[in-house]
Amino acid sequence: MDQPCEHLKGLVEASFAPLPTPLACEECLKEGTQWVSLRECLSCGHVGCCDSSPGKHATKHFRKTGHPVMRSVMPGQRWTWCYVHEVAGELAPVPATNKKESQSYGQA
Ligand SMILES: [Zn+2]
Ligand SMILES: [Zn+2]
Ligand SMILES: [Zn+2]
Repeated sequence: MDQPCEHLKGLVEASFAPLPTPLACEECLKEGTQWVSLRECLSCGHVGCCDSSPGKHATKHFRKTGHPVMRSVMPGQRWTWCYVHEVAGELAPVPATNKKESQSYGQA
């Protein structure tokens, strides 16, 4: 509820890039390692594996690029994570019918 982090505010599924197919950790594919679950970077759509995976490529991506926010892309999971503040968030639910895609980001 009290989030010290601005990064995670107002994030919805549509804030993230469409997921690549097939969904995989590219670095793991290259290195031949196995991932446990996958994370997607908000800034660039990079998909990397979580810290339970040997590669920890999502965290390495943050270290390399400084992209602060990722989300879980595992089915049914809606949480987000900010590496800078080390806080978890959750994607806001998208109304099924009444989509309010109005420009409410109007901070000039
Ligand atoms: Zn943050
Ligand atoms: Zn990986
Ligand atoms: Zn990124």
